[in-house]
Amino acid sequence: MAIRKILKIGNPLLRSISEDVTEDEVNTKDFKKLLKDMFETMKYADGVGLAAPQIGVLKKVVVVGSEEDPERYKGAPEVPRQIILNPIIEPLNEPADGFWEGCLSVPGMRGYVERPSKIKMTWRDEKYLEHSEIISGFRAVVLQHECDHLFGVLYVDRLKSPKLFGYNDEIDTNGRDLD
Ligand code: ZN
Repeated sequence: MAIRKILKIGNPLLRSISEDVTEDEVNTKDFKKLLKDMFETMKYADGVGLAAPQIGVLKKVVVVGSEEDPERYKGAPEVPRQIILNPIIEPLNEPADGFWEGCLSVPGMRGYVERPSKIKMTWRDEKYLEHSEIISGFRAVVLQHECDHLFGVLYVDRLKSPKLFGYNDEIDTNGRDLD
């Protein structure tokens, strides 16, 4: 097990498009170690999710999992621990629900982003079995944020307004009427 270094915004790898994971790959020792390291790193960094490009690996791999954390996301429910390979997300409604998002690659900052609250996600698990599920609410937001990383997109690209972005210890996250 190892805690990997999390890349920060500005690093070109965070702007790269990741490759699909292949069926042969999931059974390799290296891949299993990658998954283990990603969970370790996410936990150490106190994140809800982590995408492989955030540790400099350009593969379509996302891990999520959290316990309820009222301080980080007010009232946010628990996100079950999950491994997601090669996800495809299809929005099922218009962007509506907004969250003050944060990102381990943009440390210390927050930004207000509106995303579709209901999505259909198709993905493979660590055994390369295919799944498809309709997901809504906070979990849908987290998954969209993490899957964006696989396409070189950061939440700062999706801010509702550049004014709704700032340092955690400065920004008034109730100030949603700025727009
Ligand atoms: Zn992120």
